[in-house]
Amino acid sequence: MNAIAPPVHLPTAADRLRIGGLTALTTLDYPGELAAVVFCQGCPWRCRYCQNADLLPARRDDLIPWSGVRDLLGRRRGLLDAVVFSGGEPTYQAALPAALAEVKALGFKVGLHSAGPYPQRLGRALPWLDWVGLDIKALPEDYPQITGVPGSGERAWASLRLLVQAGIDLQVRTTPMPGLDSPDYLERLRGRLAEAGVRHHVLQHCYTERSLDPRLRCGISDQAQFQI
Ligand code: SF4
Repeated sequence: MNAIAPPVHLPTAADRLRIGGLTALTTLDYPGELAAVVFCQGCPWRCRYCQNADLLPARRDDLIPWSGVRDLLGRRRGLLDAVVFSGGEPTYQAALPAALAEVKALGFKVGLHSAGPYPQRLGRALPWLDWVGLDIKALPEDYPQITGVPGSGERAWASLRLLVQAGIDLQVRTTPMPGLDSPDYLERLRGRLAEAGVRHHVLQHCYTERSLDPRLRCGISDQAQFQI
């Protein structure tokens, strides 16, 4: 009797996605859903409190192939609700929309964690997205203190406006950096977010154990959630 050959997948655009990490199951990264998380390699910013230094360079030697994600999802059909693309910064990579489309075609919900550095690319990803967790780190004029990149705040806030206008299920997350974490500052930030149409805002604890800038020492409050 002839053995049945396993299905052969021809390379797709999604195979060019550079993946630095993969979590098979989490209840934390997509509210209310059981999700796998794909950690995309590369980010254009260098936030002082970043905990993911390994994911910042565009390339590294131990990348996970897209076929590994495809295989995982094949095994987890019926057990997983969603796949979250995180990073690093997922929109850094041109292959992202193809990967989103492939996951969507497999029947999973698609979530995205982004800091919003590329509003136009985010717009191109929108047709496949069910939920977005967007980092808004500070008021736009203060971003370079965090990211080290001029104009980064304007880009992030442009991404925010795009997502609000699109009406997508959106959670805005802020990790307050020391010096930009006073109650008065956070109140002004929440006011600007409310003006921008944000309804769900989360303050996240600023961890420092592996912060990119070793001088950074945070001492802020525990995570809090606000319905604005
Ligand atoms: S915190 Fe996010 S946006 Fe900032 S450097 Fe790290 S991965 Fe990039």
